Amino acid sequence: MKIALVGCTGNIGKQVADVVRRNPQTFSFSALVCGRDAEGLRALCDEFHPHIAFCGEIGAGEVFEDCDVAFIAASGFAGLAYTLQAIGCGKKIALANKESLVVGGELVMRAAKEKGVEIVPVDSEHSAIFQALGFRRDAAFKKLVLTASGGPFLHYTEEQLARVTAKDALKHPTWNMGAKVTVDSATLLNKGYEVIEAKWLYGAKFDQIEAVVHPESIVHSLVYFEDGAALAQLGYPDMRVPIQLALTYPERLPCERELDLAALGALHFERLPAEKFPCFTLAVEAGKAGGTAPAVLNGAAEEAVRAFLRGGISFPRIAETIKDVLARVPREEAASFEAVAEADRRAREAARTLLYGN
Ligand code: MG
Repeated sequence: MKIALVGCTGNIGKQVADVVRRNPQTFSFSALVCGRDAEGLRALCDEFHPHIAFCGEIGAGEVFEDCDVAFIAASGFAGLAYTLQAIGCGKKIALANKESLVVGGELVMRAAKEKGVEIVPVDSEHSAIFQALGFRRDAAFKKLVLTASGGPFLHYTEEQLARVTAKDALKHPTWNMGAKVTVDSATLLNKGYEVIEAKWLYGAKFDQIEAVVHPESIVHSLVYFEDGAALAQLGYPDMRVPIQLALTYPERLPCERELDLAALGALHFERLPAEKFPCFTLAVEAGKAGGTAPAVLNGAAEEAVRAFLRGGISFPRIAETIKDVLARVPREEAASFEAVAEADRRAREAARTLLYGN
């Protein structure tokens, strides 16, 4: 199976490379694309010898021409253009870029339907739901329950939250991820994004999607059915499992570590404290508003998180910035990529004005 991997030097990209490294009989790379890390790209090229490799701005459609699967692991808004391009080439998509569905869900799903392209989730929660549905996207369900680790600040008071630093936020308790998504996990923005992703992937209504805190990250999500039965997928938090499954399903490749329930002893669940982490509700509300509202939310969030990581703003200011930008930039129809990109541009501009002045 030939994979075109976009975002090859990021956290998910490196784990995709590891899956390919461990299964050389099954997988190879036809193309490797990264955003900035030319050095990292060179090392991957020396190891995997793809036909196409580049670093920087989006290239021509030829990136996807020779592949069986387009693996979109770029982070942020930048992933959307690649996802649309790969769909345009009629390639099956393994989707690890959340923003493609959060910001461009309408465009992506419409284009995929038109082209008959399959979009397979890589996010652990959505992979768990896919598995619980028996890999049937049209299966009937009552509700979807996304699990959330709760991030490093779950039980912090508001006073404590006001003082946390980027270094504190980057210590995720269970998952090993890139900086942006780790901060998004700490604010619970990430879980709001996953609600929107679930809506698009499984055609769920917003009132059919819930989130529950599960600090151990062993239960990766659940599907509730009409008769009260709930099916879950369990496993240690290791992204390589949903990565390889997205490529091979319904077949499964061997895994390294089998779940030891007795060693785990207990699993815990609690309500998601949405009142303390307003980013979650802001994301869900933007998802419900639809159109370009999620693009505005995301553009503001990317700018605010960048400022937070540089030590420029406090943790609560991330949510405040998103809220202020949503109030300033009006929602439009997400009729085209250009409309969404324009909303993203305006949101970033508004966010930068709020964050840095003029
Ligand atoms: Mg996730």
